[in-house]
Amino acid sequence: MNRRAFLRIAGGITTLTAAGPPSLTPSISASARQAPRRQSVSHTADIVVVGAGAFGGWTALYLREMGLSVTMVDQYGPGNSRATSGGESRQIRAGYGDREIYTRWVLEAFDRWASREAEWGKKLLFRTGQLSLAREWTKTLSDTKTVFDKLRIEYEIVKHADLVRRFPQMTMDGIEFGMFVPGTGVLKAREGCVAVAQAFERKGGRFLTAKAEPGQRTGRTLQDVALSTGERVSARTFVFACGPWLPKVFAAVMAHKLITPRRVVFFYGTPAGDERFTYPNFPAWAVDDAYGFPSIEGRGFKVVPTFEQVMVDPDTQEHTLTADEIRRGREFVARWFPALRDQPLVDSKVCQREDSIDEHFIVDRHPEFENVWLVGGGSGHGYKHGIVLGDYVAHRIVGDDKQPELAATFRLKDQAFTRR
Ligand SMILES: Cc1cc2nc3c(=O)[nH]c(=O)nc-3n(C[C@H](O)[C@H](O)[C@H](O)COP(=O)(O)OP(=O)(O)OC[C@H]3O[C@@H](n4cnc5c(N)ncnc54)[C@H](O)[C@@H]3O)c2cc1C
Repeated sequence: MNRRAFLRIAGGITTLTAAGPPSLTPSISASARQAPRRQSVSHTADIVVVGAGAFGGWTALYLREMGLSVTMVDQYGPGNSRATSGGESRQIRAGYGDREIYTRWVLEAFDRWASREAEWGKKLLFRTGQLSLAREWTKTLSDTKTVFDKLRIEYEIVKHADLVRRFPQMTMDGIEFGMFVPGTGVLKAREGCVAVAQAFERKGGRFLTAKAEPGQRTGRTLQDVALSTGERVSARTFVFACGPWLPKVFAAVMAHKLITPRRVVFFYGTPAGDERFTYPNFPAWAVDDAYGFPSIEGRGFKVVPTFEQVMVDPDTQEHTLTADEIRRGREFVARWFPALRDQPLVDSKVCQREDSIDEHFIVDRHPEFENVWLVGGGSGHGYKHGIVLGDYVAHRIVGDDKQPELAATFRLKDQAFTRR
């Protein structure tokens, strides 16, 4: 659907009513970047997208590519360090047990990433392969295998003795099976968000650094968003892709629909001159409740353990590791990767997830507004899907839903987390 068709549905034509916004990147418009705060200026767009993470960024780009005038707003910038998409890297794995839709989307995501890499001349996807390790055969492995067979995805089941022989970097004590999926990999996350936002601007989208709040309403229609800069942006449709901030922006509707547990990510040094733990010599891996990646471009060997769930505020949580987290991270590495036992921690990231009640994404209209969409609930697995989800959301918004069977899966569920 193009802009004209959307406007026919939406019932009107819009125009910009004020000068262009400060630009996202110096390469695009350095002089405009430090524009002073403006008061009482109004802009109009067809669509406003709040949030420039993996979900909002891709949604805004696809809507712009449909020919719509789109303003994207982010309080801290695309892929910022507080955002859930703001990490160095994210896994693009294919195994989802019986949740076939996500495996299908991953297949589509690979094609889309490849074509965007070509379009932008930028390497964002590293095909490391992925190795899931298990102490015993599980229902999830069976379900994953069934889906892989159905979709003709290449994989191998590797038994203990072969795991020991093929992956000597890792201790395989107690591990009976590995499922190795050669085509999968790792994406550059923060860089990906910046690349999406740059493409959005190059294609005529308007990016603003500001905090947005729902503004004036008429009945069930939101008229505009109020920005921390003093500006207001009106639009026919609003998308709030605010990740872990959704419960802060829409407290009444989203409180207890998402939880935001702290997650810590360790990057350990690899031994000098030793490439055994470096892409492409070791795959992305998962064991028990932890996973990680080989060192990519010298950033260090990534380890993401799961500790107790501590809920955090994405605006205010400190991004430093506690002494206990450092100790537990090191214990984990010593247990599974003995050759890295004495290597230093060369980097770390602290982040938060935004888990929905069933770990499905949320793509739904706000129950009180007919023109407001809530998009989020990445639930620890959303980054890889942003490139497909954005297209799905864009089509739903313009009334051209290509996969109507998914609306129930992505509905904002009635169930909520119990108050903590
Ligand atoms: C440690 C960790 C590891 C993960 N690993 C993987 C993985 O391996 N593979 C994978 O696919 N996924 C992974 N995920 C999940 C994935 O990163 C997220 O699901 C995804 O990035 C969520 O994107 P988002 O756009 O919904 O949210 P975010 O990236 O948080 O973006 C939301 C944006 O909205 C902006 N915003 C919020 N409120 C406002 C406001 N009022 N005004 C203006 N701007 C606002 C914020 O500044 C932010 O930039 C992981 C998550 C974590 C925490």
